[in-house]
Amino acid sequence: MNFGLTDEQKSLQALCRDFARKEIIPRRDEWNRTGRFPAEVFRKMAELGLMGLLVPEEYGGTSVGAVAYVVAMEEIAKADQSVAAAWNAHLTIGSLPLLYFGTEEQKRRWLVPLARGERLGAFGLTEPEAGSDARAIRTTASPDGDGWVINGTKMFTSNAGTEMSLGVIILAVTGSRPDGAREYSAFLIERGTPGFHVGRLIPKIGWHAVDTRELVFENCRVPGDHLIGARGVGLRQFMQALAIGRISVAALSLGLAQACLEVSLDYARQRRQFGQPISRFQAIQFKLADMATAVENARLITYKAAWLYDQGREFAKEAAMAKLYASDTAMHAAVEAVQIHGGYGYTDEFVVSRFFRDAKILQIGEGTNEIQRLVIARLLGC
Ligand SMILES: Cc1cc2nc3c(=O)[nH]c(=O)nc-3n(C[C@H](O)[C@H](O)[C@H](O)COP(=O)(O)OP(=O)(O)OC[C@H]3O[C@@H](n4cnc5c(N)ncnc54)[C@H](O)[C@@H]3O)c2cc1C
Repeated sequence: MNFGLTDEQKSLQALCRDFARKEIIPRRDEWNRTGRFPAEVFRKMAELGLMGLLVPEEYGGTSVGAVAYVVAMEEIAKADQSVAAAWNAHLTIGSLPLLYFGTEEQKRRWLVPLARGERLGAFGLTEPEAGSDARAIRTTASPDGDGWVINGTKMFTSNAGTEMSLGVIILAVTGSRPDGAREYSAFLIERGTPGFHVGRLIPKIGWHAVDTRELVFENCRVPGDHLIGARGVGLRQFMQALAIGRISVAALSLGLAQACLEVSLDYARQRRQFGQPISRFQAIQFKLADMATAVENARLITYKAAWLYDQGREFAKEAAMAKLYASDTAMHAAVEAVQIHGGYGYTDEFVVSRFFRDAKILQIGEGTNEIQRLVIARLLGC
């Protein structure tokens, strides 16, 4: 067993760390204060080949593998959760359905500009009446000549309303099977298609610079070649995309937890009370020791899930475990980081207050942690 990174993984890590230091950390306060999506940062990431990390070179990506991807995500996530979350949605659920299931023509037309970072990817599953229960979606796609007419509403879609957005990959009901079960299919709807309305930005507790919106489809007609892959397999396609997405959210969480640990340790060493640094108090030491232990465990399960993916082995159970454990670790680390900072941690002058706001969604997005437990239990054979 080898826990070391390869030279390529280390150089990607160094590249992302350096990029975060120069391009993200100095400006993150402004984006989070104003809620502005920083398109210029993603354009610079595109120049560095960072927008198609899981896509092969023939489709414009760099195909670094999932372990390297996790290493890269941890670095960007440590610097800013909004940038990392938008990057996460683009790189996995916003792009990979095209790689896994798209036709050659769809890959050339849409995946290549996504992987090159000319456009930004988005994934629309959630609806007002269908969150955890994906089968309950109401959006329909009805056959119409050689195309489809889409009607419905998607909720909380990230990345669909920016100046770089390509559009959105959605799941819709396309009819029912002979046994009466509903049939689902996936479609790519480009921005600017008549009948595709991009709603207002939804105000949130954290992830302030992530473009999250409601999308409405009103008699939105798309040609037949916008159906991704085959008709009737959309739900399976979406579940597969979410499985790799869970490794990515685990890495996003790991970055936040690691950042909480680093800033809390620094603060505890320099903040003095009762004539000594607060890091001398056992109560603070235990918080830091527990945080460090949980971060290390989160890293191990996240890397393992990524390694299984790279080996072409079953990874869904470990991906769900990684997402569950790493996001709980991030939330707990953020709570403790604020506590270690005392009153200063509650102010916007210290970065831990943003960590605290950004952490909660990690336990909710891409399948709540209750749903992760259901997935794990099912894969255990319950
Ligand atoms: C900032 C943000 C960005 C997002 N980005 C996207 C995106 O890009 N694309 C997208 O499709 N979606 C996106 N989402 C949606 C997100 O994935 C959903 O919010 C999430 O899946 C939960 O769905 P829900 O909010 O409808 O909660 P609900 O499903 O209504 O759940 C409410 C509560 O009930 C619990 N619950 C539900 N069912 C069960 C059960 N069977 N057993 C036990 N407990 C259960 C849940 O765990 C939760 O605690 C985003 C959400 C946010 C807030």
